[in-house]
This record gives sequence, structure tokens and C-alpha cells, in this order.
Amino acid sequence: MKILAISDVHGEENENLYKYLDNNDIDLVIILGDITNFGPLEFVGEFIGKIFEYDCDVIAIPGNCDPAGICKAIGESGAFCLHNEIIGYGDAILFGYGGSNPTPFDTPGEIDDLKIYGDVYELMANYDYVYNKDVPKVRILVTHAPPFNTDADKTSTGEHVGSSGILKSIHEFEPEINICGHIHEAKSLSQIGNTTKVANPGMLKDNGAVLIDITDGATFDINVISLDE
Ligand SMILES: [Zn+2]
Repeated sequence: MKILAISDVHGEENENLYKYLDNNDIDLVIILGDITNFGPLEFVGEFIGKIFEYDCDVIAIPGNCDPAGICKAIGESGAFCLHNEIIGYGDAILFGYGGSNPTPFDTPGEIDDLKIYGDVYELMANYDYVYNKDVPKVRILVTHAPPFNTDADKTSTGEHVGSSGILKSIHEFEPEINICGHIHEAKSLSQIGNTTKVANPGMLKDNGAVLIDITDGATFDINVISLDE
């Protein structure tokens, strides 16, 4: 099963995405937020509609630069809005949380970091309660904001601006993967502890994407790729 994650579209399509989907067998495309650039919401249906032409499922979360009504627009496009939701997909369990911790730019989708922590904690704790180690699943935390103090949250000035709430939840529940976006220049694959791969694909217009290839619930491969290669 192959999952392609993209992020920070900001209303700009990239023909290389469609070429990639045409040439590769992708089961699920995950969009990690900032689909629009503060709107318009009409773009959401147009863009996701084009991805559906390549015979894949689509799951998306809102970013801090998406306006109110974004989850409804994602749902109306036929995709699943994973914000504050858990879903099983093949051998993966996806936990979603959109928006970001507060920024200096006063954008629409900002959430207090303590609330992010409480919400993500609750999502992961609910699953942890029923988790069966004999039937492993690849647990993927799908967020717009990157975890604090990682390669994924480092700005061009070297400052770390990610979410402490997401970092804490990762330390507590140790999901196998966290895919995130938000910091455009922080395209990276790194690791938290011994357990969690953290991948930020960067902006779609810069050809960034993350490819996750899951063989079964205990075996997967993750790479940050360029859609133009
Ligand atoms: Zn963002």
C-alpha cells in the first residue's frame, strides 16, 4: 500500500503531481493543510477533484492559512477531513490534527498549543486503549504543524517554531510516523527517539512529497521525494 503526502499547496497546483500520480500506483493521497491561501474554498473541490482522476483516495486536514469552512469543503469534494479524527486505512491507523500553534502572522487556523496537546493526546489515548500488539498497525500522526525542535520545524533563520503539544504527544505515544507541513523551508526526514520518523514534504509547488510504502502493519518504508525526478 502506497501513501503520498503533500502539503502547503497555497492554491497553486503543480503539474508534476498529476504526472507522478499517472506514473505511480498510489492508493491514498494525504494533504497536510494550507490547501488554499486564505481561500477561496472553491479551489479545494477543483484540486481534490483532479487528484481523484488518478484513482486514489484522498484524506486532508486544514492548515492555519485555510479559512473557516475548510473541513466542509474537504468533505464536499469527496475526500475525508481527518481533523481531530482517527481512521483505519489498510495496515495504517491515521490520527489527524490540522491548524497550527500560534504564529506572529495572526492567521485563521491557529490553536493554543495546550489545546493541541490535549486534543492530540486524547485522540492517541483512545486508540492506545484498544491497541493490540499481536495485530500491529503503522500509526501515522497527520498534522499541519510540525513537532517542536526537530528538522521539520526549523525556519530559514534557524529558529524552531513547531508545536510542543505535538512533540509531547509523540513522546508519550511513540507513533511510527508523523507527517507534517507548515514550515515551507523545512523539507526533511528525521527521527524522534527510537520510534518516530518525522517527515515534512515542504511546499507542493517546490515538488516536495513524502512517500510511505507499507508492506504490512509491522513493515514500512518512508522517503522524502521530489515529484520532478
Ligand atoms: Zn501553515
